Amino acid sequence: MDITELSDDSKRLLILIDHFSEPAHTRKEREIWIKKIPLAALINRGVRKGTFKDYDTAPTLVDYKGTTRFANISKEGEDDVVDMREMGLVERLKLATSHHIYVSAYRITPAGKDTVKDFEKKHHAAISNMLACRECGGEVDIEARDDAPYLICKECGTDEKVDIFDIDEVPYVSRPNFTEIWLPLD
Ligand SMILES: [Zn+2]
Repeated sequence: MDITELSDDSKRLLILIDHFSEPAHTRKEREIWIKKIPLAALINRGVRKGTFKDYDTAPTLVDYKGTTRFANISKEGEDDVVDMREMGLVERLKLATSHHIYVSAYRITPAGKDTVKDFEKKHHAAISNMLACRECGGEVDIEARDDAPYLICKECGTDEKVDIFDIDEVPYVSRPNFTEIWLPLD
């Protein structure tokens, strides 16, 4: 797969990763990485808002701050991250937590930054729109709090919980659908 084959959703995902990560340009500079769950939470928000057209989410067991929980994770989003790592646009780091569990963190590569610049304006606008503060329209940052990740507005400080752990809103887990072949014959 090469860059010309990137879907609209993967372009938007790379723009999203670019918003929340930064490679170091010199040895003294700090690199910024985004951890797996905050990234998954942002993808989840994008799915709910219609920013990602072909992504879906399904309840998946994850480790969040030392606790195993169900979270709504997009498998398509995860697959696109894998593809973009293979293309050299995204890098992954494995970190050991204080609970001795490995968590992945991601950041855009310099090649990824060059690629993002050439994406159509509508994709950049879609991500900016998805990340806009609900109060003032300002840009947000993401913070992993104990109960869930939150979007924090850099301008007015408004915070908004990202309901990645709110699995009751997934319609297809609410009622099992038994077809007639499972029913007793008598
Ligand atoms: Zn704001």
